[in-house]
Amino acid sequence: MAKVLVLGEIRQGELRNVSFEAIAAAKQVANGGEVVGILLGANAASLANRMIHYGADRVLVSEHSDLHAYTPDGYTQAIMQVVEVEKPEGLILGHTSIGKDLSPRIAAKLKSGLISDAVSLDVTGDDVVFTRPIYSGKAFEKKLVTDGLIFATIRPNNIEPLEKEESRIGEVTMVDLEIKNLRTIIKEVVRKTTSGVDLSEAKIIVSGGRGVKSKDGFKVLQELADALGGAVGASRGACDADFCDYSMQIGQTGKVVTPDLYIACGISGAIQHIAGMSNSKVIVAINKDPEANIFSIADYGIVGDLFEVVPLLVEEFKSI
Ligand code: FAD
Repeated sequence: MAKVLVLGEIRQGELRNVSFEAIAAAKQVANGGEVVGILLGANAASLANRMIHYGADRVLVSEHSDLHAYTPDGYTQAIMQVVEVEKPEGLILGHTSIGKDLSPRIAAKLKSGLISDAVSLDVTGDDVVFTRPIYSGKAFEKKLVTDGLIFATIRPNNIEPLEKEESRIGEVTMVDLEIKNLRTIIKEVVRKTTSGVDLSEAKIIVSGGRGVKSKDGFKVLQELADALGGAVGASRGACDADFCDYSMQIGQTGKVVTPDLYIACGISGAIQHIAGMSNSKVIVAINKDPEANIFSIADYGIVGDLFEVVPLLVEEFKSI
């Protein structure tokens, strides 16, 4: 039995889903022990009960004004202080832009190991084994933690959150943290207005490549994504051609996604693109070239012109 800390991630006043997935992973690691949530930021206290409903036993909250926006040194100081007091056996973060930035800093300060980007875990007795992709998703390795803190980041959309139980109760404690000598002060956060669903947590992604041909071409993909309640992604080819923003890029140098359904439209299937989406549960490829590499990893392939196929799909899904 272990005590495991979990960082809840707040984005635009809401807890990100990966926080609930991290709680589920922490529950496994705790193996009957205690899962303690950490929430940092403005109005964090109002979200604490949601962590409890998803399985946290108690939640520590700081609404310190220097933690309203993520800064590497602010969050590192906060987590280090919590770790010092709580002395956990485990620590789980989401493998998000925050988790990727924060986890190595904390691991270095704690002189601990770190298993990054885990997609699943198995607990047998005291053995905790994490599985993580290597070689751009072409293979998986298993890591057994033999000593010290069990510290991992988990890839969004891979570990099933626990069932939400609103009747669950737990202690919520406001903690007094000392944040000092910040090297970065966030004055203002200006968000790009992206419509709809967050790409890294989307269950359905409609993705476009150079075959989409223009910014306007992406409108039909957006229509399909809207009809399915999904998000729009892109290949680097499409981003380089200025059809869409780099925040939509999926692949080795873009976002790594694991949706339930990935629809690749006019994407050839370069190895660097596949690195970011090959673990999607179901892959559908639409390409007019029957030899396109994307078909080699697709569960379903449609050889055809995306400008004919996608509007038909939109019509079909809208009628359901
Ligand atoms: P293309 O390869 O040009 O393919 C376009 C496809 O559209 C073709 O298969 C064509 O048959 C099809 N098509 C054309 N018209 C239609 C139509 N009307 N209907 C249906 N199909 C049509 N790429 C990424 O995506 N993500 C990354 O993170 C990434 N990182 C990289 C990192 C490095 C270091 C390098 C060197 C490259 C990286 N790339 C990345 C680029 C990658 O190698 C490819 O160049 C890129 O993925 C190609 O994009 P694409 O498939 O959209 O374009």
